[in-house]
Amino acid sequence: MNFPQNRAFEWVSQNLQPFVLGVLVLLATARFLYVLWPKWRIFRQVPGEDRFKYPLKRLGHTFRIAFLQAKMFKEAKAGWMHALIFWGFLIFLLRAAWFFFIGFFPAVELDGGGLETLYFFFKDSFIVLVTLAAIYALYRRTVERPERLTLSLEGIVILVLILAIMMSDALFDAGWQARNPQASMSGAWLGSLIAPMLSVFEVTAIIHLHNMAYWMHVICTLYFMTLLPGSKHFHIVTSIPNVFFSNGFEGGNQLHRIDFENEELENYGVSKIEEFSWKKLLDLHTCTECGRCDVACPALASGKPLSPKQLTVDLRDHLNNETPHLLDNDPQRSDGPLLLGGIINDETIWSCTTCGACEEECPVMIEYVNKVVDLRRGLVLMENRYPAEFANAFKSLETQSNPWGFGSNTRADWAQELDIKTWDKNNPTEYLYFVGCNGSFDDRGKKIATAVVHSLKSAGVAFSILGNDEGCTGDPARRAGNEYLFDMLASKNAELFKEKSVMKIVTHCPHCFNSLKNEYAEFGVELDVIHH
Ligand code: SF4
Ligand code: SF4
Repeated sequence: MNFPQNRAFEWVSQNLQPFVLGVLVLLATARFLYVLWPKWRIFRQVPGEDRFKYPLKRLGHTFRIAFLQAKMFKEAKAGWMHALIFWGFLIFLLRAAWFFFIGFFPAVELDGGGLETLYFFFKDSFIVLVTLAAIYALYRRTVERPERLTLSLEGIVILVLILAIMMSDALFDAGWQARNPQASMSGAWLGSLIAPMLSVFEVTAIIHLHNMAYWMHVICTLYFMTLLPGSKHFHIVTSIPNVFFSNGFEGGNQLHRIDFENEELENYGVSKIEEFSWKKLLDLHTCTECGRCDVACPALASGKPLSPKQLTVDLRDHLNNETPHLLDNDPQRSDGPLLLGGIINDETIWSCTTCGACEEECPVMIEYVNKVVDLRRGLVLMENRYPAEFANAFKSLETQSNPWGFGSNTRADWAQELDIKTWDKNNPTEYLYFVGCNGSFDDRGKKIATAVVHSLKSAGVAFSILGNDEGCTGDPARRAGNEYLFDMLASKNAELFKEKSVMKIVTHCPHCFNSLKNEYAEFGVELDVIHH
């Protein structure tokens, strides 16, 4: 027999089936769009961000992270569990389409030949794998209850729906096979295996089971769909695009210059949720609340009031609460809680070390550092609010180009006895050794800088330093949200690099490395930066 002949018309007749199914699909789609539409409108309303560059790299990255689930296997059991459910989801998308197709076109027969047999073999194998994975997921959520997970009834409902979809799929094939024992179901091995067990029932019961399996499958699928946009399981829809639009394949944190010359710009950084770009809002909707970021976060581990997961959840909930007001331009919106100092405490924002460990762990490539810096920019540039100890650092950076206030004319003192060339643009060396503030002023840093100099000399590397002309990259100011100060320092350095024709740099510390390599291109210099 051909599988397309597998139809159940006893509960709903062949003529009526497309209409009944049509009403159900219409209701589910209407509900899905009703919840999705406001989110989509907000996306179109908020600031843009170019995340379309390097489409091929993005596709490769998406294939590795999303489709191969590359980040999931750091925890083997949870990784396999999630990967099997995800791969099964992809396989069952086609099966769901087939269930709806036979409902809408009950008389049409399709014959996929060998491919169909192959598909049914995989499909049945994945019914078993996904069922085992979903049972394990239920066990984890109800018995193991790992601390990092947010446990919710909704998560249980989704798992039960997945199990129902798997069971009804197998039962639908088995019911048909039991009703037609002479038919061969090549590929659909699970249905064939279960069919003989159904012979304990009377024929009418088997017919009911067969019909029930069909309607259970389509109703559970549609209900599953309606739950997605209003819950954390929206990540099922958003995670693949979120990975595609992420910049995990590039270095840096996607921190961009603010155009301070632009008089039309009214806000710097983010003080209201709608000032985040669409990509950052997509991040918020994509969080699975798995808590992997929390496990990796050094701030949380050291008792600071920062849980990256909670930060994302709080921002997402605030976004959802504000969405109707934003769409209506509701003037009463100002009565709601403020984002800075209300929804998110200042202390939480200042607790982040901007290390990026959370981003490294996040399986759906949610970015944190750029959001934290956006919020800090809002605090520093718009509200002039920052920890007291920052005031001296900002002043020192501005006047002496280092955060500790050492005289800028003493920057090269550490190198006096070391016989190092100072960069000469008429006779440049291959490399500039960019010592940075740590290597220039910190006692331990100076020892490291001295050791680097000895190593470079021993290796025969031709290098010079900028001496007292060197200035802070501005990284501490940028990470602290003082983008104006960063812009000033980076512009000055970039001009110096251009004037002195510096192209290859060896950096002393990871902060200078990241800043010069990933953040100076916007200042008009393309540098070849390597770490010592
Ligand atoms: S970037 Fe911030 S939130 Fe993320 S792990 Fe580091 S300290 Fe925690
Ligand atoms: S941000 Fe990423 S790692 Fe953290 S809870 Fe959300 S999905 Fe998990």
